[in-house]
Amino acid sequence: MRALLLDYAERRIRVADEVAEPPEGEVYLRVLECGTCGTDRDLAAFAFGAPPEGESALILGHEAVAVVERTTVERSAVDWLKPGDYVVPSVRRACPGNCASCARGRRDFCVTGEYRERGILGLHGYCATWAVDRAEDLFPISASLVGVAVLVEPMSVVEKAYTMALRLHLGEPRSVVILGAGAVGILAAWAGLRRGWQVTVVSQEPEDGFRAGLLRTAGASYRNGRPGMVADVVIEACGSAALASAAIGCLKPLGVMIVLGARNEMVALPFLDLIVGNRIVAGSVNAGPEDFGQAIQTLAATERSWLEAMIERRPLAQAAASLTAKSGEAIKVVHCLH
Ligand code: BGC
Repeated sequence: MRALLLDYAERRIRVADEVAEPPEGEVYLRVLECGTCGTDRDLAAFAFGAPPEGESALILGHEAVAVVERTTVERSAVDWLKPGDYVVPSVRRACPGNCASCARGRRDFCVTGEYRERGILGLHGYCATWAVDRAEDLFPISASLVGVAVLVEPMSVVEKAYTMALRLHLGEPRSVVILGAGAVGILAAWAGLRRGWQVTVVSQEPEDGFRAGLLRTAGASYRNGRPGMVADVVIEACGSAALASAAIGCLKPLGVMIVLGARNEMVALPFLDLIVGNRIVAGSVNAGPEDFGQAIQTLAATERSWLEAMIERRPLAQAAASLTAKSGEAIKVVHCLH
C-alpha cells in the first residue's frame, strides 16, 4: 500500500508504494484523507516522535478521516459500526501498565508517560491506504460532515482546553484571548464564540490578511502583534513560551491560561501576579472521548463554507514538501489518500 513514511534510518520523509498492509484487526479502515499540523512538522524535522519498536520508519498522520471497509465486531456489541461508516480515530493509546487514567478511558491524562500515539509516538499513523483500529478508538461521523471531519481531531484538543479552563476558573468567564492564528487558534476562536464569549485572536498574521478576515467574519476581534487587552481565559496556540509568559499580564483576576503549544524555554513567570489575582496557568494535551464528541457536535453546527475555507487539499505526492517547506496561506493542509 501507499504511505507517508518518516524514515529514521535515512533521516528523510517520503511517500512509499510498497509498505506492508496492516494485519487484520477489529476494524479495517480505508483512509480518505489526513490533515497536517505543527506536530507533523516537528516530526518531519526529527525533533519529536519515534517509530514503532523494532522498526526504522513511522507512518505519519494523526488527523484522519476514514471509512470502515470491514469489521469483526458484532452489531450487538457496537451498533453503529458497519462497512461504509465514516469515522475519525483518536490519537493516543493506553500505556502498557494501563494506569488509572488510561483504564478509565482518559489516556490524555496518562500519568506514566508511557502512552503511545498513532502517527507520532511508537505507533503507525493513518497517512496510508489502509489502517486498522479497535472500535473503541473510533468516533462515527455523518456522511454530511466528511468534507470537514479532518478538523475533528484539532477541534477535540480545543474542546478539552475549554473544558479545563471552565473547571479551573472560579468565576464566570466571558472573554478569551487566543495567542496564534493557526488551525487550533482559529478553531478555538470559533469554540469561544459558540460559548457566547468575547473573543480576541492575537498573532503575527497581518490585520488585512486572510486569517484575520476569516476570524472577523465569525465575530472575533483580531490584533496583530502582542496582546494588549485583558480576558478571563487565555489560550496559547502559538508555540511561543515568551509570548505565553507575557500574556499572563492579560489574565483578569481568577483568569486561567491554557498552554497548548509553547516550547520548553526558560521564561520569567510573574508569580506575584498569579498569587494576588488567583490566576492559573495550566497545560493541556490531546483529548478524551467526550471532547471528540463535543468537537463533532461543534463542527456539525458550524457554517460549512467557513470551515472549508480553512482547508487546502493536496495530493499525497506533495506531502513531504508540505511538511518541510513554509506552509503559505493554507490554514489546514490536507493530503488525500485516494
Ligand atoms: C495532537 C495530539 C497529541 C499531541 C502530542 C498534537 O498535534 O493533536 O493529539 O497528543 O500532538 O503528541
